[in-house]
Amino acid sequence: MARPLSVAIVGAGMGGLATAAALRRVGIDVTVYEQASQFARIGAGIQIGCNAMKVLRALGLEARMRGQSFYPRSWNNRDWKSGDIKFDMIFGESAEEKFGAPYLLAHRGDLHAALASAVPDEVVRLNHKLVGLDQTNEGVRLGFADGTRAVADAVVGADGVHSAVRDILFDTAPVKFAGRIAYRTTYPATLLGGEKIDDCTKWWGEDRHIVIYYVKPDRSEVYLVTSQPEPDFRIESWSAKGDVRDLRASFAGFHPQVGKVLAACPDVHKWAIMDREALDRWADGKVTLLGDACHPMTPYMAQGAAMAIEDAAVLSRCLDGVDRDGVMDAFRRFEATRKVRTTRVQETSRANIWLRERTDTSWVYGYDAWSVPLAA
Ligand code: FAD
Repeated sequence: MARPLSVAIVGAGMGGLATAAALRRVGIDVTVYEQASQFARIGAGIQIGCNAMKVLRALGLEARMRGQSFYPRSWNNRDWKSGDIKFDMIFGESAEEKFGAPYLLAHRGDLHAALASAVPDEVVRLNHKLVGLDQTNEGVRLGFADGTRAVADAVVGADGVHSAVRDILFDTAPVKFAGRIAYRTTYPATLLGGEKIDDCTKWWGEDRHIVIYYVKPDRSEVYLVTSQPEPDFRIESWSAKGDVRDLRASFAGFHPQVGKVLAACPDVHKWAIMDREALDRWADGKVTLLGDACHPMTPYMAQGAAMAIEDAAVLSRCLDGVDRDGVMDAFRRFEATRKVRTTRVQETSRANIWLRERTDTSWVYGYDAWSVPLAA
């Protein structure tokens, strides 16, 4: 019997782990190389769209995520000052029925841990920072910062917005700082001292917004994430802290409910928001990009991780049953199937008007990565 195709995945983020799990489903031998020495649970929430949940369901993670996440009735959109409702996007059971899966609000660490649980530990090699790639007749050679090497039939660069794989393959312009920053954190809801807040609301200001939602089924943990101008801040790091007093000052005058959430907030991370135009190509030979590495986006549709997770499912379908000689065609098919959608999401996200008023959301949440026709 022919040996299975071997695929090296660079990056054990949302896209890399989802890809590892999806490729293993179709019998591919995967190894994931991650630069970090351990997985940290950083205070951030993540909205898991119905479209991403359909992928997670097939990876066996639906029950786990339902059990750990908040199931919102809606994503409400309100005016920053008056609190007037601009558009209440109803989720809950009606959206679940319409789009075929639930919309969940999770702790980012819970989603990452769930994806990690879908891949055996021995498949993930921590402390492996990719620094070089070399395509040979025997396969693709990977070189790591500690001097070790590996070889695989094909490589998937799922190494995020600052992708080393992308920089090795293509001469691309650097990612752009959007001139805006996000403060974000999670904290125990007990700190609200019994104050009642909305379950999930985006508060729309003139040049800034704040999104606040629960990330646990029992409303025990609150998450907030903002976007506001700050052209000179360029640090994009999970360890960069912000000053919660600055955060409160930037949202002074917002609706009293926002004031309560910020008054109770003990600590906050600060993150420069990045953007990039769509790349001309995602693949070169037997190496392809996936997720933020090829289509990073501003976070305003809450769909960046969802796109990486959808990529994983579609890539597994393209590689299903393919041998070493078929990899390049499979990668072209993957890109041709995914690019129109991810570019549309990138552009829609950049406009930052998603759900500000009545919006047709079916094209986003109704998508099923397991059944969408593959490009010829
Ligand atoms: P990442 O998750 O960034 O993973 C990349 C991995 O590659 C990392 O583990 C990194 O350490 C590793 N790596 C990097 N370089 C190397 C190297 N040289 N060698 C080895 N490993 C390497 N998306 C949603 O769907 N819903 C949301 O609600 C949402 N909210 C967001 C809020 C904010 C403020 C931001 C900034 C983003 C948000 N996103 C959201 C987007 C989402 O976080 C990203 O789109 C998603 O993490 C992309 O996944 P990825 O696997 O492509 O990259």
